[in-house]
Amino acid sequence: MSSSIPAFEAGTSAADGPISRYLDALHDRLLPLRDGEIATYIPELSTADPDAFGIAIATVDGHLYTSGAAGHPFTIQSMSKPFTYGYALRSCGVARVLEQVGVEPTGEAFNSIILDNVNNRPFNPMVNAGAIAVSELMPGDTPEARLAMMMDFFNDLAGRRLDIDEAVFASERDTGHRNRAIAYMMLNSGMITSPPEDVLELYFKQCSINVTCADMAMMAATLANHGTQPVTGRKILDPDQIRDMLTLMSTCGMYDYAGQWAYEVGLPAKSGVAGGIFAVIPGQAGIAVYSPPLDQVGNSIRGVAVCKEISRDFGLHAFSDRTMVQTVIRREYRASEVRSKRLRSVAEIAVLAREGHRIAVLEVQGALFFGSAERLIRRLAALAEDCMAIVIDFKRCSDADPAALRLIEEAVARFGEAGPDLVVTHVPGDHPLRALLPGGARGTGRVLTLPDTDTALEELENDLLSGFFETDDLARFALKRIDLFHGLDEGCIKALEGAVSSFQFSAGQQVIREGDDANAFFVVASGAASISVTLPGGQRKRVASVGPGQSFGEMALIDGGKRTADVHADSAMICYAFSVDRIREIAKARPEVLTTILQNLVISLTTRLRMANDEIRNLV
Ligand code: GLN
Repeated sequence: MSSSIPAFEAGTSAADGPISRYLDALHDRLLPLRDGEIATYIPELSTADPDAFGIAIATVDGHLYTSGAAGHPFTIQSMSKPFTYGYALRSCGVARVLEQVGVEPTGEAFNSIILDNVNNRPFNPMVNAGAIAVSELMPGDTPEARLAMMMDFFNDLAGRRLDIDEAVFASERDTGHRNRAIAYMMLNSGMITSPPEDVLELYFKQCSINVTCADMAMMAATLANHGTQPVTGRKILDPDQIRDMLTLMSTCGMYDYAGQWAYEVGLPAKSGVAGGIFAVIPGQAGIAVYSPPLDQVGNSIRGVAVCKEISRDFGLHAFSDRTMVQTVIRREYRASEVRSKRLRSVAEIAVLAREGHRIAVLEVQGALFFGSAERLIRRLAALAEDCMAIVIDFKRCSDADPAALRLIEEAVARFGEAGPDLVVTHVPGDHPLRALLPGGARGTGRVLTLPDTDTALEELENDLLSGFFETDDLARFALKRIDLFHGLDEGCIKALEGAVSSFQFSAGQQVIREGDDANAFFVVASGAASISVTLPGGQRKRVASVGPGQSFGEMALIDGGKRTADVHADSAMICYAFSVDRIREIAKARPEVLTTILQNLVISLTTRLRMANDEIRNLV
């Protein structure tokens, strides 16, 4: 056999540790397993080394783990069958392919000469008859064109140029009379119409492609990766085609051993008579094994043993499912328990503590699919009974499949006019849920989108509070009603009124800059402002916001040092400003001005400290 293939290089990063060690131990343990016979019905295959034994695992992001002779070339044989089936689905469509070959397991050997008489077609594409019928579907006007098409396809799958083992091909062509019988029988029944020798030539060449375990693991990983080759990033097959290929591998891929295999390994797989087996862990990785000695049904003995152990040790059986739909709601809370970063007056805080339960926040995590979306919409329906607004925070939810989108779309549509407001946060432009939001392809218009949950909470708190306070009544913020001056008598308030100057800011305008001298403090009369710090990476983080009646920059009164944060107006804003020097001046005659303000300041700092503590708690 040809050995012209260069040795591949496996990754050697630190991440190889546990898995490489596991594969090496498995390899060493199974090497002494010397049962089975090398296939000899294709004479050239009988020259294989019975102790050549390789294992490879490729992940969906293209990382390769190997052990033993994973770079040893051997012919792909029947492991090619699911791939040419996928190619036929891609080039001819499902309907045409189903005319040519069925989807039923046979319960017969791989080379059985039987057709499904009812439908007049081979039982499935994983046995020789079905694969030969599929070979006829390879597009191209000449045998050369068809061969080139096929090789291009396999090269794409492996991510490198493969070649044909000419010695094995010649051996198969010269001795493959059983396959010849199958092809002529199909010609006789009208199943194939092309010259059988042409179809067989392509089929024998397909079986004689040289691969290594590393190649097969990568091809398997392409199937695991929904049809995109993990290393080249090339999209080769559609997820629907992959699903059909994997289905047939599950039911027919291991010949007569398919039932036992499904029971013990539970992964879609395919074997070949040269001693290869590959298995697919959908969404995760591909496994390939090479070891020529075969069991009675034609599957590699060490190959089956390796797959059994890997599946058992890593819990990979398709039905040992660990999906956790119950964790879809990571956290749920009400605005009475967690408030936005908006600093509020004592009276506002009291209202939020009493009424905030009518605003609910749901933090969603993980992927949304049928089961997890069902949990979410059921909880939404329950909350809709007693909430005026619901915020759904999708920060930790990266994916939603079409079934989940359909369920959520219907659930949201039924919120209707009378239902609670629905606000979704952390849904960036590329998030699948975007399609359902206003401006998206199927936007319902009933949902408000905001960048983050704090902003959403702040807006909903404002809505709630507006029912209790006339928030934009300027007169309300006569100095004596401001928390910072709480407890001061008329005389002191009068003195303060003489010291105040008022400023107007437009939306986005900077009021205070970090590092500037702190020589005045402010009270918001109308509008709102955000207090933010710059993180080491340069991004801004909003730490609090202030609205009417709230003060900021008061630290100036205590240390008179530098500003420790930036303050920007969120909207048009009017502020009262007090110079620290003027306050100290007044305090000479009325010391209680300073002591009362400082006392109120301690109360407000305590509130902010509690908020900071809550925020830290919420980080975990
Ligand atoms: N080329 C081989 C044949 O047609 C393929 C069989 C197999 O790998 N099971 O017999």
